Amino acid sequence: MRIDEKLAAKQTFSFEIFPPKGDLPIDEAIGVARELDKSDPDWISVTFSAGGSGNSANTVSVSGAIEEQTNTTALAHLTCLGSSKEDVDVYLDALSELGVQNVLALRGDRAPGKETIDFEYATDLIAYIKQTRPEFCVGAACYPEGHFECDDFETSLRHLRLKQDVGADFLVTQLFFDNELFYRFRDGCARHRIKIPITCGIMPFTSVRQIQRMAFTCGATIPSKVIRKIVAVGDDDAAQLRTGIEYACEQIVDLAANGVDGIHIYTMNRPVIGHATHEALVDCGYLAG
Ligand code: FAD
Repeated sequence: MRIDEKLAAKQTFSFEIFPPKGDLPIDEAIGVARELDKSDPDWISVTFSAGGSGNSANTVSVSGAIEEQTNTTALAHLTCLGSSKEDVDVYLDALSELGVQNVLALRGDRAPGKETIDFEYATDLIAYIKQTRPEFCVGAACYPEGHFECDDFETSLRHLRLKQDVGADFLVTQLFFDNELFYRFRDGCARHRIKIPITCGIMPFTSVRQIQRMAFTCGATIPSKVIRKIVAVGDDDAAQLRTGIEYACEQIVDLAANGVDGIHIYTMNRPVIGHATHEALVDCGYLAG
């Protein structure tokens, strides 16, 4: 099913997983998707070669398996730096053959060997898919704190508006730990007449190392209340994960109360994160039990 139709009908709940690297078997990721499916998500998204892991073929296979083996729908990510129009056509054909109708169209991070061929920005990819393959529902990325290559918040909102103008059907945010920053961003979107649904991407922190990495790779602000919580639990890995999940649950309950269009959980392939966030959203009445 198309994700824009789901978003038009209700507030959504969805998950992100990543496929295995390189030639590793895909069974484990499919197992994660099947386990997450028990929480009845509206869709499960599958990342594309994130971090240069060379797993793009696996994105197609895992997305196809979600369509075939679960009750939910797949959202296949696609980055365009270093890709030609022909590469994109081949990828979309492969998705179509497996019944995948939803794509998250991204530029990807700049890296050696990932120079522009046919697409400079995500907007070019979104426009290309919309013109050549209108049967696809196309999502795009957005950044509540702005993207790290763009210093000016208003300019980054103008760039985001272009995604809507070329036909993006919905947006998924970069992770954030401070909901107030999301609400400021949502107000900014309204000012720029960005009207397509925005789903909030939330990633529970799992350890001190992981949250430090996130702050540096995504530029996400870490509020002092989060730092205090992590420091309070000390070096206990299990306690750090528990605290991270508890904090993410507090975040999503607040987002639910503030009428967001959707909540998208970066599960890092850990079903425990999917189940805990699902339970929190049932308890607060955002999801039916
Ligand atoms: P763009 O929208 O093209 O923006 C990139 C930069 O260019 C921004 O600074 C923007 O302000 C600027 N810009 C845009 N348009 C213009 C213009 N017309 N003129 C001048 N400047 C402009 N990466 C992966 O490799 N694999 C994944 O699976 C993946 N999944 C992601 C999922 C989500 C929800 C998010 C938020 C990010 C994901 N990423 C993934 C990371 C993403 O690829 C990077 O953040 C990348 O650096 C930017 O991608 P984009 O699509 O937002 O790019």
